[in-house]
Amino acid sequence: MFKKVLVANRGEIALRIIRACKELNIPTVAIHSEADAITLYVKKADESCLVGPGPVAGYLNIYRIVDLAKQRGADAIHPGYGFLAENAEFARACQENGITFIGPTPKAIAEMGDKIVARQMMKKAGIPVVPGIEHGISSANEAESIAKQIGYPVMLKASAGGGGRGLRLCRAPEDLKKNFEIARSEALKAFGRDDVYIEKYIESPRHIEFQILADHYGNIVHLGERDCSIQRRHQKLIEVAPSPFLDPDLRRRMGEVAVTAASTAGYTNAGTVEFLVDHNKDFYFLEMNTRVQVEHTITEEITGIDIVKEMIRIAAGEELSFTQDEVQISGSAIECRINAEDPRNNFLPTTGRITAYYSPGGFGVRIDGNVYRGYVVPPYYDSMLAKLTVWGRTWDEAVSRTARSLDEFVIRGVKTTIPFYRMIMRDEVFRRGEFNTHYIENRFDDLIYENKSERIDLVFTIAAAISAHSHR
Ligand code: ADP
Ligand code: ADP
Ligand code: MG
Repeated sequence: MFKKVLVANRGEIALRIIRACKELNIPTVAIHSEADAITLYVKKADESCLVGPGPVAGYLNIYRIVDLAKQRGADAIHPGYGFLAENAEFARACQENGITFIGPTPKAIAEMGDKIVARQMMKKAGIPVVPGIEHGISSANEAESIAKQIGYPVMLKASAGGGGRGLRLCRAPEDLKKNFEIARSEALKAFGRDDVYIEKYIESPRHIEFQILADHYGNIVHLGERDCSIQRRHQKLIEVAPSPFLDPDLRRRMGEVAVTAASTAGYTNAGTVEFLVDHNKDFYFLEMNTRVQVEHTITEEITGIDIVKEMIRIAAGEELSFTQDEVQISGSAIECRINAEDPRNNFLPTTGRITAYYSPGGFGVRIDGNVYRGYVVPPYYDSMLAKLTVWGRTWDEAVSRTARSLDEFVIRGVKTTIPFYRMIMRDEVFRRGEFNTHYIENRFDDLIYENKSERIDLVFTIAAAISAHSHR
């Protein structure tokens, strides 16, 4: 097992990884910006070091992080999600310096991180992908002639996209003409690459993803699915497992395809195969995420498997200790991302000091967070403050327990998504499990009344530009 693990992340996921290391008796090194110096995960790590400059650049500084690991005697690095988690260059730098990257190989990260390459590979393996093309397009005219063949509406997508960014819906040729150059320049700014391609827009789909674990001995299992259809701006807000929409036959077939996808990618460690499922229950490969996901907690609750510990064990060269048949799904779990955002103002991120904090508890209630009373929500990072993950023996129990937990949850000083989630838990459509990716705009359009999407786009563009800049 590893002598010491450096955690190349911040916030709740850094704490999550430190907790797993503690249970495995592995000392940890946290890295932090000045803004994060006094936060919880830094206190809980055995050692910590400042990485700068500024609030964000340090978390993206590949060579500084690898150097720190060497200096501190860490023989492994866990990247968490976001930041460098899906950066093949970082995984390679670890490898070249004799440090184990707790994740897949640089090759798998690079291939699955490119949506066009991933589509090519999956198609070749006979896996159904969202209808569309498997090459980049270079002009608006080419885009239009392809869209004509596929049929409108279509989705213009950045091959290197992620985090819900780099996606544009086009319902008619005019949209495509208008969006093409914008999409390209946005992709370049945000991801450092401007290749865009086209997919058929699937109307009112479900987002269903399968959690994969693969060791270095060819064993691949899936831990069932998560339904992440409840989104705003193509980003997940609430996730549930299992999906109320899947029947046992579809679940079995999709699980098998997810395992085939992982084996096609030569995949090792933890990953997620994302699908869109249409109203006919036809499913299509969407993308593969080569990291631990925010919503891994719901899978842990229904399987009893600690995914982060499994990632560390796999990276250390251990064989998976269970087979597919031994994975037992029990009950239902729901995760709510408690974000510092104003749902009444198109989810505009909010900042400020938390003046009161009381987290819910009791049977089946889990909190993964990094905030407390007195914590100042900084403007530099993701707006997620905490994750509420609730388990129940049935879907109905999980919903009622989540509603009860949200009622107990007190965060004052900043606006959060808690009141909005309280409404969702009481919404009959949600309770019936009848949601697709348009759920929020369909059910709560009247609530999110002020259209500030341009302002939000600006916030994201600035954040992405900072991140792209510090990559260089
Ligand atoms: P990201 O890399 O940002 O996660 P994805 O390709 O996984 O991007 O898509 C994110 C979300 O955008 C999906 O969950 C879905 O809601 C929507 N989406 C993406 N592609 C399509 C499509 N072809 N048709 C309909 N919705 C889509
Ligand atoms: P998950 O499926 O794990 O919820 P998200 O798409 O919400 O994944 O992303 C998790 C975190 O990673 C978020 O902070 C998101 O902003 C960030 N992220 C994901 N992909 C990228 C990317 N390509 N570039 C920058 N940030 C990303
Ligand atoms: Mg995705």
